[in-house]
Order: sequence, then C-alpha cells, then structure tokens
Amino acid sequence: MTPQQFEAVVVGAGFGGIGAAIQLRRLGYENFVILERAADLGGTWLVNHYPGLAVDVPATTYSYFFEPNPNWSRLYSTGTEIKRYANDVADKYDVRRHMRFNTAVESAGWDEDAKVWNIALAGGETIATRILITATGFLSQPRLPEIPGIGDFAGKIVHTSDWDDSYNAAGRRIAVIGTGATAVQLVPELAEEAADLTVYQRTPIWVVPKIDFRFPAWAKRLFRRFPLVQRVIRAITDGIYEFLIYTGLHHRQLFFRRLNIGATDLAKMLRFMQIRDRGLREKLTPDYDLGCKRPTFSNRYYRTFAKPNAHLHDSGIDHIEADGIVAADGTKNVVDTLVLATGFDLWEANFPAFEIIGRDERNLGKWWRENRFQAYQGVSMPCFPNFLSLSSPYAFLGLNFFNTVEYQMRLMDRLLGEMKRRAADTFEVTVEANAQYLDRMTKLIGDSVFAVGNCATSRSYYFNPSGEAALLRPMSARAAIEEASRFPLTDYQFA
Ligand SMILES: Cc1cc2nc3c(=O)[nH]c(=O)nc-3n(C[C@H](O)[C@H](O)[C@H](O)COP(=O)(O)OP(=O)(O)OC[C@H]3O[C@@H](n4cnc5c(N)ncnc54)[C@H](O)[C@@H]3O)c2cc1C
Repeated sequence: MTPQQFEAVVVGAGFGGIGAAIQLRRLGYENFVILERAADLGGTWLVNHYPGLAVDVPATTYSYFFEPNPNWSRLYSTGTEIKRYANDVADKYDVRRHMRFNTAVESAGWDEDAKVWNIALAGGETIATRILITATGFLSQPRLPEIPGIGDFAGKIVHTSDWDDSYNAAGRRIAVIGTGATAVQLVPELAEEAADLTVYQRTPIWVVPKIDFRFPAWAKRLFRRFPLVQRVIRAITDGIYEFLIYTGLHHRQLFFRRLNIGATDLAKMLRFMQIRDRGLREKLTPDYDLGCKRPTFSNRYYRTFAKPNAHLHDSGIDHIEADGIVAADGTKNVVDTLVLATGFDLWEANFPAFEIIGRDERNLGKWWRENRFQAYQGVSMPCFPNFLSLSSPYAFLGLNFFNTVEYQMRLMDRLLGEMKRRAADTFEVTVEANAQYLDRMTKLIGDSVFAVGNCATSRSYYFNPSGEAALLRPMSARAAIEEASRFPLTDYQFA
C-alpha cells in the first residue's frame, strides 16, 4: 500500500509543535499533520498537573509573541491556565484539525531517490512527508531513579509527570525524592495535608523570592481593550529576563560576579527569614554557582521545612523496602507514598526522541554522540535534508521557552519561504556553516557560567554526559531572533 503522503509532518503537539503548525499555515501549507503520542495537545502542560504546578517565568512573557493573553489570572499563572492557553491558541489558529493523537513516532528515514522522509508509527503504519519537523520537547521523558528495592515498595509510587489527581495527601506519610524546580512547587502543597513529609535531597537548589500577584479584573479589561498595555508589560518582563540570562549566564566575565552575588544574597536572606535552624539552612545551601542549574522562585519552599511535619534528609538513600526508605546513615523512615520528583531523562531519551536516519545512512543519535552535540541555529544538521529539529542541542534560549519558539518560527519563515521562492525540493545546511556555528557556540559557552563558574556539583541537565553545556543557546533572545531572520541563505543548499 502506498503510504499516505504529506507536505510536512510535525512531531509533538506542545507549544513548539503548535507554533510550527501555525507557521506552516501562514506559509500556505495545508497538507500537513501533527503527530502526538498523547491523547491531547499541550505537551508539558498536559502531562504535568501535580498540585502547585505553575510557570516560573511571568506569564506575560510565557506566551506566543503574536498572541498575548489578557486572561491570565496572575503574574505566574497555573499549569491549568497554561494548558487552557494552549487549547485556545490551537483553536484560534485552526491547527487542532491537523493533529493526530495517540500516535507515537518510532523512527524516520530519508529516501534520497524519492526526496521524502518515511515515518514509521507505532502500530506498523508508515507515512511519507517532504518536510519533517520534530518538536518533541526537552522535558518529556520522565526519569525513574534506579534505587535498590524500589520495585519492592508496597505503597503508592507516583512520578510528578504522571500525577494521580484522585490522590489525597491528608494523613499520609510521604517521601519526596528530588529537589528540582518541580519539588519546589509541590512540596509546600503536600506539606499542607500530609501527616509526615520527608524530602530526600541529593543536590540543594537555588531558590529566590517570587514576586507574584493576581491581575485584578480592571487590569484584565485594560489588557483586552488596549493590548498595547500588555505588550508594554511583556517588554518589561522580557527585558528583565533577557538581562538576567544574558549577563547572568552567558557573559559571566562581564557582570556575572556582581549579579550572582546579588541573587545569592537574596536566596540567603530568604533562608534566613524563613528558617531558624542554622544547620538546616546550611543543608539547603547549594555549593555550586547560581545559574549552573535552572534556579527557581518560591516564597514557600524554605518555610515548609520549619513546619513540624516536614523534614529534610540529605545523607542519601541506601535502599527502599516494602514499607519505607532506609537512608545511607542507616535510619529508616516508614512511608506509604513515594513521590518521584526526579525530573526528566534529557540527553539519552530526547536527542533525538526517536531514531532518525538521514542521507548516507547517517544516524542522528549516533552522529551527535560521536561528533559532539550540534545543530546549526539550533535546528539543522548536515545530511538531514528537509528536517528541522526544534528540540536540539544549542536550541533553548534559557528561561523563557517562547523566545525559542519565536526565533524558530522566524527561521521557518525565512527558510521555507526561500524554498518556495526557488521552487526547490530540498534544503540542507552546509557542512561549513554548521561547523562555523558550532565553533561560535563553543566560544560563547566559554564565557558562560557553565565554563567559568563552579558547576561541578550541580548535576544540571544543562550538561550532557560528556560534560558539555550543549543545551542552551548562549546568546540573547534578541540576537537569536535577529539571526533567524537574517542568516545567510548560502548557509543552506537548495536543490
Ligand atoms: C514542570 C515543568 C515546568 C516548566 N516551566 C517552564 C517555565 O516556567 N518556563 C519555560 O520557559 N519553560 C518551562 N518548562 C519547559 C517546557 O517544557 C517548555 O516551556 C515547553 O512547554 C516545551 O514545549 P515543547 O513543545 O518543546 O515540548 P513538550 O511540551 O514537551 O511537547 C513535546 C510533545 O512531543 C510529544 N512526543 C515526544 N516524542 C514523541 C514521539 N516519538 N511521537 C509522538 N509524539 C511525541 C510529547 O508527547 C509531547 O506532547 C517547564 C517544564 C516542566 C516539565
């Protein structure tokens, strides 16, 4: 049977995939499909619905540049609201009808003669497409800890990305494993209800105060009537984040020391104000530089440990038994619930999210591992014609994912627009342009906290298993957006 043929296939219906689909429609593509393994759209904001889930950059900034949302209830809006925003945008831009849910992609291979990608789906079906765009996300594969005995635990085990909404924490004895950004949101919520809550910490996280407030009804009316007002607020919140990421993370030599000291002091002040016990404050103090790992904002996390029912354990876990956790110091804690706030498997499971074989039988995952992780403009690799990998090494601009979406949508506009103008069948980045870009990224990373700072103990997902900080694109959002709109078209070969 001839496989169904598309002009373009997008894999993933999170914000990245929705943005790509909107751009395809703007460019005049109609024969395209978005393949999504889940039963609905939203990606991160569909699968995560644990108590306390909220965005950790202001919602005014966490939205598509072309679609401000006057309905945010507060500056840091909740996960439920973000999911609703994803639904609204998909409907408004009429891309939902292109989505095919419960459809997992297993592999993709380039056919050089037919100039198409053949895509194998779980269940055995194959489809073909001229253009393949993967938007499979960085944080979409939950990591399960390999702790001896975890399989023997007789109580409830729940990963934060698979929360059981019917779970009632009241009166429970809960152990939370992990202290990343998710735990910082979840722990204060669970501590409100639980009889006893112990957080098992391997690496403390930097937590700085959160300035959050509700938008009053008049503000929402104002945003609705005069969208310019919201755009101005966005420009301000964007500016603050841009300053933080650019000077704080990427130009460490220039300003970082001062900024880092300021933020470190803020976190220290917060711990001092919220925790009386000096020993506990010390345990919660990271010994790596702020910025090595995604920092987080909360006014409630530290305070939680001052409650009588909440405890912190940092001596490590030795093993798990049917009714509890035995720590490395030999103490046993009897619990009925294990909450795995252990984050996501980023480097192994997402780069790439499924097998991709390009021209000359080049296997993307293998090539990345043998030749360093790399992607021109965070999207293209040589030998992978007509392919845009939106969740690539050196793609993510840092704190606000929507900046990444913006430059990638602009890049699609320039690249696919040029392909149409030339009536070309294929585009492919040149080996030289890709190599120069990787050199440039390497130099820029050399001036960042990741290279110059003290990150040794951070266990940060920004670093790949070879110790390279190859996740973040080390430049300002403004520079990346400009590059995406102006990169030399000679960096690609069109045929
Ligand atoms: C708890 C949490 C909080 C976050 N908070 C923030 C924040 O405050 N600010 C920020 O900028 N970012 C935040 N992020 C990062 C967040 O992931 C991004 O902001 C954004 O939502 C990513 O969108 P995406 O479309 O790239 O990926 P995702 O939302 O992960 O979507 C990828 C989609 O691809 C699908 N998929 C993957 N593999 C396949 C396959 N083989 N076949 C078919 N479908 C597949 C997945 O099912 C998923 O729906 C947070 C992440 C988490 C987990």
